[in-house]
Amino acid sequence: MSTSNKIPRVGFVSLGCPKATVDSERILTRLRTEGYLISPSYEDSDLVVVNTCGFIDSAIAESLDAIGEALTENGKVIVTGCLGAKGNIVKQTHPKVLAVTGPQAANEVMDAIHAHLPKLHDPYVDLVPPQGIKLTPKHYAYVKISEGCNHRCTFCIIPSMRGNLVSRPISDVMQEAQNLVDAGVKELLVISQDTSAYGVDLKYRTGFWKGEFIKSRITELAQALGELGVWVRLHYVYPYPHVDELIPLMAAGKITPYLDIPFQHANARILKLMKRPANSEDVLSRIQQWRAICPELTLRSTFIVGFPGETEQEFDELLEFLKIAQLDRVGAFMYSPVEGAAANDLPNHIAPELQQERLARLMAIQAEISAQRLAQKIGKTLEVLVDDVDELGAIARSHADAPEIDGLVYVQNGQSLQQGDKVLVRVTHADEHDLWAEIV
Ligand code: SF4
Repeated sequence: MSTSNKIPRVGFVSLGCPKATVDSERILTRLRTEGYLISPSYEDSDLVVVNTCGFIDSAIAESLDAIGEALTENGKVIVTGCLGAKGNIVKQTHPKVLAVTGPQAANEVMDAIHAHLPKLHDPYVDLVPPQGIKLTPKHYAYVKISEGCNHRCTFCIIPSMRGNLVSRPISDVMQEAQNLVDAGVKELLVISQDTSAYGVDLKYRTGFWKGEFIKSRITELAQALGELGVWVRLHYVYPYPHVDELIPLMAAGKITPYLDIPFQHANARILKLMKRPANSEDVLSRIQQWRAICPELTLRSTFIVGFPGETEQEFDELLEFLKIAQLDRVGAFMYSPVEGAAANDLPNHIAPELQQERLARLMAIQAEISAQRLAQKIGKTLEVLVDDVDELGAIARSHADAPEIDGLVYVQNGQSLQQGDKVLVRVTHADEHDLWAEIV
């Protein structure tokens, strides 16, 4: 916050192509929104931003000259744009520049401006914390990386409501994640309609974050989020082949070894009717490989029971799949016709009583599997994140437990812990949902 009441003034030199101009416009818009004035002269400016071009030699020379001129005439200079991404050339030629970023780095430019020329206090805007207003507890937060979906699953109307996939620029996602971590968040829950498709619509365009180029693609995004030093949990991961790339990141402890991957069914004909990837053998062998690479992996999936035309044999195939797959967490739902969904037109809808009966059978089998898998954790040491504390102890979650949907870890001697603490516990008891444990 500025201590003087003088409105801070920024000079702006914009060089380069139309893409650079758009970057300049974005920065100028942010400056004006935050109450800075844009000044047309060096003498009147408190600081100058030079947006550079680094395409050909003459453009590099022009950019370096412009930086030199701004340094001579003003002295406080921040450099952005393509030349900033070309190694150390700017710092080597002009060591006095205050900061250098690459293109499409409005957030980083604004951070540098805030550091060297603080904005005036705005009683309206400054009430909003940098991480925005969050409805979740302070120690975890959802990060939405895209909107919409390119798939057309026949039971779903999301694409008709929200349109095709639109991914957020990777630098925006990373800045939001960084703000959340700076504000004390210990767990980031990555969400979207289709997390593994992140960046497809952007053709995996390269963005800029913390001085480095980074592809807008789920593997690279997960890797970058993993550098923030908090739990990173991936939800709604459609089973594309490239999901396999995420497992080594989990094995290496970069991101949380947890995959929320909706398979929806196991029978090839039903999956085809659903317009989902239809090869359960392939899924089973992938699960096996994932577990070989990352034995700690927790798999959560969802399934639809009683889809139109589902025969007894096809349903049995789903049960058989569950027995072999040994998933950790399963959510199952009876098919219900949503207005506007293509599946409504399919023949042979299943009677609700039969759907109910199949759902109960599936859940009974899965309850046994879940209980067995949790029982295997007794005696093991786990890291947990504390959600709440009362006189009975702490209520926490392990890597295997997403908030709201999975189980809990009751830390029986955790009365002295606080919300947001991460602590090692030893598991003493388990049921089909939850664990009980003691601080190690
Ligand atoms: S179920 Fe998911 S993947 Fe399929 S269309 Fe709906 S949002 Fe997209």
